[in-house]
Amino acid sequence: MTDALLALNAGSSSLKFGLYPAAGDAPIATGLADRIGAEGTLRLRAGYGADLPVPVPPDMSDHGTALETVLGALVAAFPELTILAVGHRVVHGGPDLDAPVLINEGLLEELEALSPFAPLHQPHNLAGIRAAIAAFPEAPQVACFDTAFHRSHPFVNDTFALPRAYYDKGVRRYGFHGLSYAFVTGELARIAPRLAEGRVVMAHLGNGASICAIHNGRSVASTMGFSALDGLPMGTRCGQLDPGVVLYLMQQEGLDANAIVDLLYRRSGLLGLSGLSNDMRVLEAAGTTEANQAIDYFVFRVQREIGAMAAAMGGIDALVFCGGIGENSRLVRARVCERMAWMGIEIDHERNALNAMVISSEMARTPVLVLPTNEELLIVRAVRSVALGNDAVPEAPLLHDRAPEEALAARGGAAG
Ligand code: ADP
Repeated sequence: MTDALLALNAGSSSLKFGLYPAAGDAPIATGLADRIGAEGTLRLRAGYGADLPVPVPPDMSDHGTALETVLGALVAAFPELTILAVGHRVVHGGPDLDAPVLINEGLLEELEALSPFAPLHQPHNLAGIRAAIAAFPEAPQVACFDTAFHRSHPFVNDTFALPRAYYDKGVRRYGFHGLSYAFVTGELARIAPRLAEGRVVMAHLGNGASICAIHNGRSVASTMGFSALDGLPMGTRCGQLDPGVVLYLMQQEGLDANAIVDLLYRRSGLLGLSGLSNDMRVLEAAGTTEANQAIDYFVFRVQREIGAMAAAMGGIDALVFCGGIGENSRLVRARVCERMAWMGIEIDHERNALNAMVISSEMARTPVLVLPTNEELLIVRAVRSVALGNDAVPEAPLLHDRAPEEALAARGGAAG
């Protein structure tokens, strides 16, 4: 018998999942169902890294069938599987939900009412929840919100300068990537508790990207605002944009709302600027003028927003990179940290080249860390706490190599 918890992260055309034991951080299996609604692909990997068999071609006509296909593959791989509880990433929790909660019909209605705030994501999250309830009617289900971590923002970082009525209707700066920030904040607190009490600028740089100002473990400001479009340029999203550009697109170019959504969400960012790809690895290898300019713009905006987030806290005590680019791109990290000596940021190029956990130079005032994020594990911990009443904090942080304590201790006991 394999008792397990299932974490589901349903996107517009994908379903990421992690199967975890009732206790412990090592996954039983993880995977990704991609291109749901088209010629879908399914990847399933055991916790120890080996690929597991999946049906070919997988049946993935919608989120419900994709989940059935995923469950079929999981049961084939682990015949004695019993799902005790399920956790879901939900993009929008609105102004009030600031922690994971048990799902019931009333909550689902509340979350459906928030769909206009995140029309490209929320309906897919809810479709994933409905499919999981149908598959496991007896199992408790927990919703974990990307916005929850940012509900601690002060008013000035929660509002726009629009007439007050819009704020009251919910037009606010919600911020996203909250599960990632919550996870990495927890990791930092265990690796370097004194640093985690300070002013931390955290850069989640992936296909979606944002930066967050976190003081004593609480979000103070984020580059993402009302939607997941604001702030940094992303794989295919524009990032911060003068609203006058949108007016121009409507009034002079005749674009309607759907065409603008397509342009700003799917054809802009690194893809739009490079004309080549949304994938940083491809751009780094390309070497064309357009690809280099796309990287230049990304780096420039990340630098600018690190400065802005530090200003929101009156200073910076540590910089943390996470996300696919933040965890892996030596080039982007090195370029972002150039010309940052005024903030006490200076990296050790050897440590950066090794993808070490601490990449700042020994003499630098501000430690710079690389900490892998794990949204599925955060969801599973929330499920244990909310559905099973188990709040046990894992004893050891998820270290990969890398002796961070020594590196931090070398700068005067910052590891706490
Ligand atoms: P998502 O937001 O979809 O979860 P990820 O966090 O997986 O995205 O990040 C995807 C991005 O990370 C892509 O741009 C990819 O090119 C980049 N990336 C992954 N590995 C590397 C690497 N070794 N060097 C540079 N970029 C990388």
